[in-house]
Amino acid sequence: SVDTTPITATLFPGDGIGPEIADSVKQVFRAADVPIEWEEHYVGTEVDPRTQSFLTWESLESVRRNRVGLKGPMATPIGKGHRSLNLTLRKELNLYANVRPCYSLPGYKTRYDNVDLITIRENTEGEYSGLEHQVVRGVVESLKIITRHASLRVAEYAFHYAKAHGRERVSAIHKANIMQKTDGLFLKCCREVAGKYPEIKYEEVVIDNCCMMLVKNPALFDVLVMPNLYGDIISDLCAGLIGGLGLTPSCNIGEGGIALAEAVHGSAPDIAGKNLANPTALMLSAITMLRHLELHGKADRIQNAILNTIAEGKYRTADLGGTSTTTDFTEAIIDHL
Ligand code: NAD
Repeated sequence: SVDTTPITATLFPGDGIGPEIADSVKQVFRAADVPIEWEEHYVGTEVDPRTQSFLTWESLESVRRNRVGLKGPMATPIGKGHRSLNLTLRKELNLYANVRPCYSLPGYKTRYDNVDLITIRENTEGEYSGLEHQVVRGVVESLKIITRHASLRVAEYAFHYAKAHGRERVSAIHKANIMQKTDGLFLKCCREVAGKYPEIKYEEVVIDNCCMMLVKNPALFDVLVMPNLYGDIISDLCAGLIGGLGLTPSCNIGEGGIALAEAVHGSAPDIAGKNLANPTALMLSAITMLRHLELHGKADRIQNAILNTIAEGKYRTADLGGTSTTTDFTEAIIDHL
């Protein structure tokens, strides 16, 4: 079956708690017989002139070659003369969509227990194009760039994702009533793609109304697709609905079908090396990678083991109010497999 062909994937354990939680992922994957061989790459200790950053050219080549990877949190080194690590990855691998599945974890009580939505954020342009300047003293200008190319590309991905994952509806989030040209073009592209997917319901929701609906009743949404800035804000809002960034997985989709999964949280230097980190977000991110590879059997099995461990409540790390170490929690997940 497809579930046993060996696949090579790049692994960036990252900094701080990164290596500890990456280790948990490796152990759980091994215990579940996931047919993945990891190719490990660490962030370099000096700037690689070929990437102008601490990420080596070889590590980027590894992702390009394998087309799938998992990234732990990286602490961007301080100092001048280099590009930020995340920016290097985004630009070099052309990571154009950030996908965050957001679902309630049974047994971990938050305000809602019925969240099950996906946010898909355009990740290359919009308000984050980096084009800001001063016009005259006291007046500055920032350019919001929306292109047909990038809008169609992210809309295509959203509908493709909805179809592949048995989702029913895609909502395009916008402010086209005010941003008529930019968000207007974004919506036009979404509509065009929606026309090719008659089996998926399509709707358009104004961003402010979307925020209100999300906090009142998140079950109203299924798949949401949006320009960069709205996506940045809404995806964190959604993470908050299920218990915070420590539980939220994400996956970056790049040109040519690259998928680079990563946890949303940082390297947590305050607890690094203490066996206290919660590996859930990185594990759930690794599961988005398995789903990208259509290894749904393995993905379901590991996801259930994680959810059952958390629901059981016996082994939880400190951030979830428990006293377990990373190692105990990981072993509990393996027992649930
Ligand atoms: P952080 O997410 O690392 O930590 C914020 C708080 O959350 C800390 O108290 C930390 O202990 C806790 N926390 C985070 N992840 C946790 C986990 N898995 N288990 C238990 N507790 C967890 O944010 P920060 O302190 O603002 O950033 C620290 C470093 O991480 C910085 O160098 C920053 O640049 C980097 N960072 C990297 C990424 C990334 O690689 N995607 C994202 C955010 C921050």
